[in-house]
Amino acid sequence: MNDKLNNSSSPMFSDSLMSADDALSFLMESAVISDLTELTSLDDSIGRILAEDIRSRINVPGFDNSAMDGYTIALDENNLSKENQTFNVVDRIAAGSIGNELKKGNAARIFTGAPIPKGANTVVMQEECETSEDGSQITIKRAIELNENIRPTGNDILKNGVILNVGKKIEPEDISLAASVGIGELKVYKKLKVGVFFTGDELVEPGQSLTPGKIYNSNRYALVALLKNAGCKVVNLGNIKDDFDSTCDALEDLAKDCDLIMTTGGVSVGEEDHVKPAVEKLGSLNLWKIKMKPGKPLAFGYVRNIPFIGLPGNPVSSFVTYCIFALPFIKKMQGNSSFKNKAIKVKTNFDCKRGKPRREYARVQIDYTSEIPMASLYPKQGSDVMSSVVWADGIIEIPENTTFDSGTILDYYPLSELTR
Ligand code: AMP
Ligand code: MG
Repeated sequence: MNDKLNNSSSPMFSDSLMSADDALSFLMESAVISDLTELTSLDDSIGRILAEDIRSRINVPGFDNSAMDGYTIALDENNLSKENQTFNVVDRIAAGSIGNELKKGNAARIFTGAPIPKGANTVVMQEECETSEDGSQITIKRAIELNENIRPTGNDILKNGVILNVGKKIEPEDISLAASVGIGELKVYKKLKVGVFFTGDELVEPGQSLTPGKIYNSNRYALVALLKNAGCKVVNLGNIKDDFDSTCDALEDLAKDCDLIMTTGGVSVGEEDHVKPAVEKLGSLNLWKIKMKPGKPLAFGYVRNIPFIGLPGNPVSSFVTYCIFALPFIKKMQGNSSFKNKAIKVKTNFDCKRGKPRREYARVQIDYTSEIPMASLYPKQGSDVMSSVVWADGIIEIPENTTFDSGTILDYYPLSELTR
């Protein structure tokens, strides 16, 4: 078990508020990269994380070839700058076939991708060649240079060079590159298995009818979707009975089989919250009050030796803390080398006259038609207003204790990046 956990006497874990940056640094230091890997076919590799550098065993292209449909010529180097030259056409080379050696002064019809024959040293596109009636000769009006329209061996990829780096999330273009060097399988990290469950007597499943005082359990569906988006396998125990023993059983169950356990809600200090004492009994737990809005309560600990992240209960808080803290943690565990959220600079079309003690992760839409992208705030920024996230393009970071005028440049994170 990680011994950094129990130092709750350190200032970081005192009852006072903790900065979002400190919480993130601590989490990222605690994330251990999975050591389990497997081979996957190219077709199944999309979105997975490479577990080794991929090297090419061949040059691509493997031979000098024509970049155009036209004529390849064995140009006499004494005739380099001459205009109006005529050549005999002695061969025809389609892609996939090999032409005969060309003697100086001869040409061959050639098609895109076909190998340049021995003796040839340039290619002229067909639009620039006048062919004789019987097709046996071509005349080119302009002066011709050496090596025109030839794609040289290794132009794209050199033999033995690294073409894809360990830790890269595999995108369609990576699959194309791997295929182009003849690699049919990739070594990737095994999918992270994340166990989740939910508690709360107020929660009712979508599809059922609401009784007074109850709300629909939306976090359950948000979290499962976010985890699937992140390429995780999800073990979902659903809503469990809201008592201490059932909570302990659920945690123990998941710890046997999962790489990470997550819950939402139930980690405040209310009497009805059994998650906190259950995690504490089976391992250890840090409950952080983070200087951020939305968010604030965030729990991180271990059940047996399996990491546990408890997100807050309010839907926007749980969504935003997932994006800011949990996803980078998950990505690092998955072996993804670019696990940090990358900020973009945008301009505000709003001011802030009164500094606030907590950093705000405000939901904004972005107007990309202005010279610098311009952010507008959703009017309701409450941690219960999920419509703000649906409306938003992303999240802008409003620093704590800061006032600013309209037109200020701030850090912005698109939702498309924050959720995958
Ligand atoms: P808690 O952290 O459990 O005190 O919850 C804080 C707020 O979030 C309360 O209003 C809860 O009703 C709400 N909440 C907790 N869990 C969920 C959930 N799974 N879906 C929607 N709202 C929730
Ligand atoms: Mg609760």
